[in-house]
Amino acid sequence: MSGKDTGGRRSGDGKVRVAVNGFGTIGKRVADAVTRQPDMELVGVAKTRPSFEARRAAERGYRLFVAGGGERAAFDAAGLPLAGTLDDLLHDADVVVDATPERVGKANAKIYSSLGVKAVFQGGEAAEVAEASFSALANYAAGRGKRTLRVVSCNTTGIARAASVLVPRWGVSHWEVTLVRRAADPAETKKGPVNGILPTFRMPSHHGPDVRTIFPELPIATTAVVVPTTLMHVHVNHVRLERPPTDSAELLRAFRESPRFHVFAPWEGVEGTPQVMEYARDRGIGFNDMMENVLWENGLRVDGSDAYFFQAIHQESIVVPENIDAIRAMFELAPDGRTSIRITDRALGLSVR
Ligand code: NAD
Repeated sequence: MSGKDTGGRRSGDGKVRVAVNGFGTIGKRVADAVTRQPDMELVGVAKTRPSFEARRAAERGYRLFVAGGGERAAFDAAGLPLAGTLDDLLHDADVVVDATPERVGKANAKIYSSLGVKAVFQGGEAAEVAEASFSALANYAAGRGKRTLRVVSCNTTGIARAASVLVPRWGVSHWEVTLVRRAADPAETKKGPVNGILPTFRMPSHHGPDVRTIFPELPIATTAVVVPTTLMHVHVNHVRLERPPTDSAELLRAFRESPRFHVFAPWEGVEGTPQVMEYARDRGIGFNDMMENVLWENGLRVDGSDAYFFQAIHQESIVVPENIDAIRAMFELAPDGRTSIRITDRALGLSVR
């Protein structure tokens, strides 16, 4: 269990020292989540340039470092104190969460490896960036003691979590998912479409193969369309089960009993993603995030061996708890995935199951 045994370096109080490189949508959320964990310490965050997010980091007392060809002078001009460069930050860290834009992580991997710092990458990187792809409910054990992990993308995380419920209980002989994808994150004002539905002409889409980085044998095919919304993705699932549950209630119960799922009842009046995110604002966790897979009781049905269900995925936050569990697996801080998930979810204010 010691950091030394697993190739890690730990601070005096036994906490794993975590750096975050790339402080955008995912990075800022992971940084906040790290500060809530009993066994982790945030040693700083790295950014290329000053922004409202850099300002908030400074206001929260996070040490700020310049990365990726950014200029110290720009931070000086903005009045944001810098603690050093990315190299300085990495020297203080046991592990770095790379939350830079797609494919930047691949270039950064060489820096992390040369400095002997473990690294967690995101789903925008190819699977080869890390020793294993990771999703806590599905393959926590595969992350144990690793030097590098890749937390799969938001959509893949959503499907992998659902597979973690379905595969061990009932077996899957065939699974089709149509992904209705949000066009952009809410702050991405330069992306579209503003008015249109764009089919993804790669068929099947890349999501199915990505799920197989976690479930290699899963007979899953995915297709996707992009729609003008920023709130969430929605997956339309049709799964053929090898040993089907007796009825819809049994399937529903399995999702309800699993961590990281949130099921809305019909009486709650949640018609779609607008009310889901309104609920998230009412709940007020983190950035008013919805880190669970969202299902609807009346959006799920078992018909013989066929199961149908909708699930909504909050792209900005679903991977946040997975990044925390990835760190815990790499440093063997918990005996198993269920324990790590409980620690993470309790710290984040999610339902603990
Ligand atoms: P983002 O654009 O919101 O944030 C990236 C941040 O990194 C920005 O602040 C940018 O200025 C900074 N940056 C750019 N180059 C850098 C460099 N060389 N060094 C350090 N920082 C640099 O991106 P994001 O949405 O947070 O995505 C990050 C990763 O997470 C990607 O791999 C993405 O595919 C993945 N991901 C994103 C989502 C999502 O919906 N936003 C969901 C799951 C996974």
